[in-house]
Amino acid sequence: MTYTSRFPGFYKISVLERRALVSEATGADSDEMERALEGGGLDAETADKFVENVLGTYSLPYGVALNVRVNGKDYVVPMVVEEPSVVAAASSAAKLVRAGGGFRAEVDSPLMTSQIQITGVTNASAAAGNILAHKAEILHLADRAAGGLVARGGGARDLEVRVLGVPSDRMIVVHIYVDCRDAMGANLVNGIAEAVADRIAELANGVVGLRILSNLCDRRCVRVACKVPAAVLATDDLSGEQVIDGIVNASRFAELDPYRAATHNKGLMNGIDAVTIATGNDWRAVEAGAHAFAARGGHYAPLSTWRREPARRENGVNVDGMLIGRLELPMALGTVGGTLRVHPAARLSLRMLGVETAGELAQVAAAVGLANNLSAVRALATDGIQRGHMALHARSVAVAAGAGGAMVERVARMIVEARDITLEAAKRAIDLLASASEGATASGD
Ligand code: NAD
Repeated sequence: MTYTSRFPGFYKISVLERRALVSEATGADSDEMERALEGGGLDAETADKFVENVLGTYSLPYGVALNVRVNGKDYVVPMVVEEPSVVAAASSAAKLVRAGGGFRAEVDSPLMTSQIQITGVTNASAAAGNILAHKAEILHLADRAAGGLVARGGGARDLEVRVLGVPSDRMIVVHIYVDCRDAMGANLVNGIAEAVADRIAELANGVVGLRILSNLCDRRCVRVACKVPAAVLATDDLSGEQVIDGIVNASRFAELDPYRAATHNKGLMNGIDAVTIATGNDWRAVEAGAHAFAARGGHYAPLSTWRREPARRENGVNVDGMLIGRLELPMALGTVGGTLRVHPAARLSLRMLGVETAGELAQVAAAVGLANNLSAVRALATDGIQRGHMALHARSVAVAAGAGGAMVERVARMIVEARDITLEAAKRAIDLLASASEGATASGD
């Protein structure tokens, strides 16, 4: 069977039948799947090697997002999440995106940023000049601290000096950009920071401060885009064009308002975090990077935006533009290192996905994030618009049922609240209001 992420009716079959299907479609071993997923895959003894003071383990649901296609390749994407509807939302939006050809994604080189803080610097520009003049020597020192990584084609690539604050702060920070290949890279980069710090302090005539990675790894970004034809976005009550308008409106709202942007980004992190956890990666690192990146312009902004593609002419006919979504964020994911090779479910996830590199994994995780975002903005746009439509519609139903004056609003409100916007419901509401007011008059209220 060729690898596929399309399983119509998947939600209707049993857990065991789903495992069998996914095992067959992805090549993931069914025995391994059973071992990794029964009871969460991690026994207390192994967990005791992960963290401290262990009492046991804590399980979360492990589902798969279906229909995901990125750069022409299908992925069955593992998601670990406790919130209902996140997995279904990712799968249904990925199906809409499939109708537009699937997600297109690109990823930067896996460059992590190592920060070396130097304090007590009396002449920052002289210090910066001296450090830059010794760049080759410092990068060489950095590479010596990460021999295994260099042997795999990674290593220190560049160096920058930043002067922080005002001269009286006497503080500079050196960034070393390290290609971490398929590792998330935190430990590698921290090791490098410690190995080069003394020499840098000497060159700066200052004192070594902090030596640690930055989670704002903005040289390791992933960009995902998708196009969705209007026809597949239509609902029972709204045309695809109206839904596109609603989604673009939702995007503009997030672009203009950090209160909305926070929730917009939470919706897309629903997908990204779930894939990050399922593959044994550090989701706090991904979250920290995402939100710092979202605020990089000095204003907290949405990580994704939605627009309508301009209409075009094809064979002499006007063709309406599709919905276009774009997402960009830093993504420090690994397929090696950390604890991810030790957790049986994380190993299974990587096998099921069939990703070759950490960059490929980042593209898939970001695509799922964009899918969750699409699902959320589409639901918000359509429900919101529908509710508006229904409120208007309810007033005319109330009038048709015989309500007049102030009674129109009251009857309309009652049938909207009862989610029963019919002539019969409106007549019942009128009768109820009439008998209530008769009762009030009779009792002298
Ligand atoms: P790691 O320490 O396990 O290093 C990766 C190892 O994998 C290296 O020894 C490397 O040589 C080897 N390797 C094998 N094949 C490789 C390949 N193809 N590409 C790259 N390396 C390869 O792990 P890490 O990625 O340096 O650190 C990740 C861990 O650090 C995570 O568990 C994370 O939670 C933790 N951490 C995070 C932070 C933070 O985000 N602020 C801080 C400290 C630690």
